[in-house]
Amino acid sequence: MIYIIGSGFSGLTTAYALNKKGIKSTVISPGEKNKTKNISLIKYLLKNNGEILNNSNFLSKKINKLNKTNVINCKYLLSHMEGGQSNIWGGVVGNIGEYNYNDSLIKKSEILKYKKEIINLLKIIKIKYKKKKNKKINNYLLEKNYSVSKKDVSNLKRYLIKKKVIFKNNLFAKKIDLKNSILNVHDIKNNNQISLPYAKLFLSCGPIETSKLILNSINNIKKIVLKETQHFYALIKVNHKLKSRFFDATCGKYNFSCQLYSLKNIVGLFFKNYLKNLNSFNKNKYFIGQCYLNSNYSGKVNISKKSSKFIIEGKPNLRFNISQFKTDIKKFNKKNEVLKIKKFFFNKIGASNHLGGSIPVTSNSNIKLGVSKFGKLNNQRNIYISDSSILNDIDISPITIFSLNNILRMILSNKKI
Ligand SMILES: Cc1cc2nc3c(=O)[nH]c(=O)nc-3n(C[C@H](O)[C@H](O)[C@H](O)COP(=O)(O)OP(=O)(O)OC[C@H]3O[C@@H](n4cnc5c(N)ncnc54)[C@H](O)[C@@H]3O)c2cc1C
Repeated sequence: MIYIIGSGFSGLTTAYALNKKGIKSTVISPGEKNKTKNISLIKYLLKNNGEILNNSNFLSKKINKLNKTNVINCKYLLSHMEGGQSNIWGGVVGNIGEYNYNDSLIKKSEILKYKKEIINLLKIIKIKYKKKKNKKINNYLLEKNYSVSKKDVSNLKRYLIKKKVIFKNNLFAKKIDLKNSILNVHDIKNNNQISLPYAKLFLSCGPIETSKLILNSINNIKKIVLKETQHFYALIKVNHKLKSRFFDATCGKYNFSCQLYSLKNIVGLFFKNYLKNLNSFNKNKYFIGQCYLNSNYSGKVNISKKSSKFIIEGKPNLRFNISQFKTDIKKFNKKNEVLKIKKFFFNKIGASNHLGGSIPVTSNSNIKLGVSKFGKLNNQRNIYISDSSILNDIDISPITIFSLNNILRMILSNKKI
């Protein structure tokens, strides 16, 4: 039996690609049906550490007990509802082909071979993907034309059920017995342990939970380090009309991407039930920017395990210098007339939800925390990683579409699977 662990976009894309090759698979996840609810990105980011959102209390409490975790200097956003974070994502769809593959063994052309496949997948998910050209505004600003979609995983899941992919709910993968090829899972509903013999396993739990499963299963791996594009908010005055809400900015050596929320958006988010006419907020030139800093200068998330407890710890990046950043922002404001960054404040490490790059593709098969170009975990039999953990880098662009494109490449190009 081939098991896929995780029912978010990564897990379902893995099932989709396997199905294209005529391979049967079973998707397992702890989530229950009908517990999903879309919430806004800002509301989500303003929440506290370590919460599990949109689940029944029963499920949250159970998983917290099974997977005790200490969170230090970090924002750890976990969702074990059916469909995982993929059901609450912001819905910003990056432009296929724009991801930075410079540091990767995988060439961009290898990814783009599967462009038709990803477009087909987006059609099934019912994500409206429009390829529009970006516009260079000046040397500091690049206006991006992203599509925005509010769709969740349900359309893809329905398609996969028709294709005979099996879904098993209420199952939480605890440990892989690598020697005997057995997956140990906890049945949350019946409160018992189950052993599932497997032929192949695909870990699609999202980079934090995938790391935990590896730490639980492989004794000589003690720590896993995740990259991210660190998140900050900015108060931005826009002097010229922009065509898009999205842009990339170059501030000295720092690159970041930004998504603008008008005052109308923000007020509407929190007070739409109390205010009848929001249009008066539309004329304001001030916006809240939701920004993501280049991962070369962003903090990292370390995951380790001490006795039976996981430790998730945010580590600042020593290459990032806040006073240099402030000086660069001042220069940026002086030189560029289009918009001015008035204030900014950084969110905790981990809050971007654009995480991964922890188990990247490598040609050195001795590296324990590396995978082959087909996603196979080094030194282990039949264990594949298929989520954003295996990206070489975490770009400032929205991450999900590139990760899914990479999963399609990894499975469809593997002649041995
Ligand atoms: C608020 C928010 C906004 C976002 N906005 C955007 C955006 O605009 N654009 C973008 O590109 N990306 C965005 N993201 C990121 C995006 O949500 C993720 O990249 C994407 O959902 C990752 O999918 P995934 O399948 O890898 O993980 P998830 O969707 O998190 O799925 C993981 C699955 O694994 C299951 N699982 C975990 N551990 C276990 C276990 N031990 N056993 C069994 N099952 C397990 C979970 O229950 C879940 O089903 C956003 C994220 C958040 C939280």
